[in-house]
Amino acid sequence: MTRNAQLFERAQRVIPGGVNSPVRAFRQVGGTPRFIDRAEGAYMIDAEGTRFIDYIGSWGPMIAGHAHPEVTEAVQRAATRSLSFGAPTADEIDMAEAICQLMPAVEMVRLVSSGTEAGMSAIRLARGYTGRDAIVKFEGCYHGHADSLLVKAGSGLLTFGNPSSAGVPADLARHTLVLEFNNIPQIEALFATRGHEIACVMVEPIAGNMNFIRGDAAWHRRLRELCTEHGALLVWDEVMTGFRVALGGAQQVYGIRPDLVVMGKVIGGGMPLAAFGGRRDVMERLSPLGAVYQAGTLSGNPVAVAAGMAQLRIIQRPGFYAQLSAATGQLMRGLEAAAGRHGVRFKTDSEGGMFGFYFSDALPRNYPDVARADVETFKRFFHAMLDRGVYLAPSMYEAGFVSAAHGPDVIAATLEAADAAFAQLAKA
Ligand SMILES: *Cc1c(COP(=O)(O)O)cnc(C)c1O
Repeated sequence: MTRNAQLFERAQRVIPGGVNSPVRAFRQVGGTPRFIDRAEGAYMIDAEGTRFIDYIGSWGPMIAGHAHPEVTEAVQRAATRSLSFGAPTADEIDMAEAICQLMPAVEMVRLVSSGTEAGMSAIRLARGYTGRDAIVKFEGCYHGHADSLLVKAGSGLLTFGNPSSAGVPADLARHTLVLEFNNIPQIEALFATRGHEIACVMVEPIAGNMNFIRGDAAWHRRLRELCTEHGALLVWDEVMTGFRVALGGAQQVYGIRPDLVVMGKVIGGGMPLAAFGGRRDVMERLSPLGAVYQAGTLSGNPVAVAAGMAQLRIIQRPGFYAQLSAATGQLMRGLEAAAGRHGVRFKTDSEGGMFGFYFSDALPRNYPDVARADVETFKRFFHAMLDRGVYLAPSMYEAGFVSAAHGPDVIAATLEAADAAFAQLAKA
């Protein structure tokens, strides 16, 4: 039995499914998850000493590459000053100021410890601010695992949502309305009948939890108009896209100003740190100023803030995103060319350091499009790449991530592996 298989067996005895977050279990692709020992730059090394080129980057945070010396040194320095105080610090003001400066829509911000916590808090704030209960989300978008968000569409448009997880009360799920991504007539119809009940519309501006799907600019503009017209808040979940698709997130890409923004992943540099922020008049409704309660023992944790700030300094250097986008673009064009050489139907899309690929002739526009993609071919490609030392997300519903450490040699090695993997697919 391999070392990874031994670890997986041990893990499954004491941890449900052997993992602390479901996608790590390789359920969609099958096989044994790799237990990671360490990582450096663009590479992860597993418990057997096998080295992989990493296109997960901890699902987004590691945009400067693994174990970046400036980030690890900042963490070490912070750690010697104690791991937590439960009292305010000067460093957390630096971080809040940096976020307000970089994110166009953020005038005030509160730090929390996970994207889930940030999303859940933004919804409570939107409900408290508007005095309304209903929220709108879109099929295939993920905003963390809070009760109000684990909801799927009801039997038809404009009907109550149903829980998508056991343990979510139907009474709570009914306040969440789930619509199709990129569908303008649906959101117009909903606002026409129930606009006065809607506290907020929450959306991933570029969806990264159903592979990679761009929201149409016209759809986003319509969401902005409808929210303004009906007194609902527009909440952009930029946990994945923030500081990832551009320094100013998707707000910078689209030039649209949401009322609230949810952030995470990159801002923590790999430590548990997330945030929500936005309009000053809305944020001032938070406790202790206002009536919307929100708190956290480890919120603004000094070690997490040190890691996040060190990474925020790196990504603000001139040319950081130009180089990251160029590397990602080169990878995407190379993958399409390799697929083309072997007659495999294959499409890609990317923005900044975030990408998606599909075994299909057309880019998907919504969740049903992704669900129709060829999962068997995806599985074979995933394993063909893993066998050749390239670690892609083990699910076709996930986006991929490139870091600043993915230099030309790393991209070239990936494309060499891809050429062989596509050749193997074409033969089968
Ligand atoms: C990852 C993610 C979350 C949840 O963040 P956690 O830190 O895993 O709780 C929320 N929204 C989006 C868009 C994400 O990608």
